[in-house]
Amino acid sequence: MKKKILVLGGGPCGLSAAWELSKYGYDITVIEKESRVGGLCITNEYKGYRFDLGGHRFISKNKELVENVCGIMGDELLTSHRKSVILLKGKTFEYPLSARDIFLKMDIWTNMKAFTSYLIAVFTKIVFRKKDVSFEDWIVNRFGRTLYNLFFGPYTEKLWGVSPKFISSDWASQRISLLNLKDVLFRLFKLKKGTPRTYARGYFYPKKGIGQMFDIMSEEISKMGGKIVLNATVSGIKVNNNAIESICYVQRGVTRTVDCDAIISTIPLPDLIKTFPGHLTGDVMKHASVLQFRAVRFLNILVDIPDISDNTWMYVSEGKHIMTRIQEPKRRSPFSAPEGKTSVMLEIPCNENDETWSCSKEILLNRCLADLKELGLDIRDKVIDYFTTCVTHGYPVYSLDYSMHRQKLFDFLDCFENLITCGRQGTFRYIFMDTAMEMGIAAAQTLMLDNLCKKEDVQLMRSEKELIEVTSVTA
Ligand SMILES: Cc1cc2nc3c(=O)[nH]c(=O)nc-3n(C[C@H](O)[C@H](O)[C@H](O)COP(=O)(O)OP(=O)(O)OC[C@H]3O[C@@H](n4cnc5c(N)ncnc54)[C@H](O)[C@@H]3O)c2cc1C
Repeated sequence: MKKKILVLGGGPCGLSAAWELSKYGYDITVIEKESRVGGLCITNEYKGYRFDLGGHRFISKNKELVENVCGIMGDELLTSHRKSVILLKGKTFEYPLSARDIFLKMDIWTNMKAFTSYLIAVFTKIVFRKKDVSFEDWIVNRFGRTLYNLFFGPYTEKLWGVSPKFISSDWASQRISLLNLKDVLFRLFKLKKGTPRTYARGYFYPKKGIGQMFDIMSEEISKMGGKIVLNATVSGIKVNNNAIESICYVQRGVTRTVDCDAIISTIPLPDLIKTFPGHLTGDVMKHASVLQFRAVRFLNILVDIPDISDNTWMYVSEGKHIMTRIQEPKRRSPFSAPEGKTSVMLEIPCNENDETWSCSKEILLNRCLADLKELGLDIRDKVIDYFTTCVTHGYPVYSLDYSMHRQKLFDFLDCFENLITCGRQGTFRYIFMDTAMEMGIAAAQTLMLDNLCKKEDVQLMRSEKELIEVTSVTA
């Protein structure tokens, strides 16, 4: 008899694991808290408009994954091209940053300051062997203080809600595709080639929003006999010696128990720890409570004009503006808005239950329209309608000592031989959907091969301290 495997969480990672296992006829049940699958990759439809939870794009360096996704999506997958900019101090800069662009658009005084502070950074790094502990160190050591203060510091503080001094340099090393100012200059003079992710312009995107990819994947899983249980929050785990015997979930107020041979968990790592019996977790709980997530509120506006700009993403650097990114969903797929109309989606980072999270949608709209006007996008008399959406687990907060706390949780979970935790929430890692999907598939293969591949290899996949997006297979 095939193993009975439970997959906790129906986002990209959990669904990919279930998809892989279903192909081999395993008895699969996905348990998902929400009323639909997709996790952070869902798309909301409203009056003929479509909005993701923050505009997503699919790119990957894994050829097999890309082929599989193209295979199930068929004609529903579009290829799009990206153009992004940074809005700062009334000017529009290219994203990724380009030395030529900065030089041409900044005044001579700022240019001189930027260059001098870059030289100082290079000198201090060599002479004092300055280490990259925080995000601030990482950027200042590579770009100098002036560019940090202009482009990176205020944006990062707005995104995380804490000073970049307290954010680990791990985030920068995987997120900022420019290695340093030297790299920017080399590319400017065409002395360096290659396509880091931030430079990757082509990407895949489903006609009906990113959620369509996971709706189709869940249909495939069901066709192969896999079960998907919705509105079901995992609440408890029953352990027998070193193995998980069953889990409990709460669905519409009723607690149910399901037996299992193995578990792939993609729910937030701290939440998974909390489902274990208290007498087992003890000391581990204090490590779980340190790992926090940054929430995001999205303001989705239906706009009565055909187009706003030709940009896929507009990054808003200055701290005085509430949003980090402005997006026009139509740039990803023309099916995101009715003919002749467009829409705008704003990403507004916050903490669950703080003022931004809790304020009424009217207050948020007025604040955002004022910010947009200041940024040169005055759409105040073009708003047809609007609504907000939100996620509690938008970004795992990489505090300076996060990896030590996370490792304690991994060590605890390692004792349970039939459990693997993976995915963005399950490993507390800032990963993209393609890596989450690869992790899910690898976790499934690990279980099928009876743990030939180590759990650690699955959890730390693609964690090389280098750019996440190098040589992506894209459109
Ligand atoms: C604003 C934003 C923009 C992004 N843009 C991109 C992009 O352009 N390209 C890209 O590749 N990636 C992007 N990402 C990242 C991408 O969304 C994630 O990498 C991906 O969703 C991770 O998949 P996952 O399955 O690991 O986690 P999730 O998508 O978070 O799925 C976890 C699932 O577990 C469920 N769950 C949680 N707790 C429980 C419980 N107790 N019981 C049952 N179920 C539970 C959740 O409801 C959820 O469905 C973006 C993320 C954000 C926040």
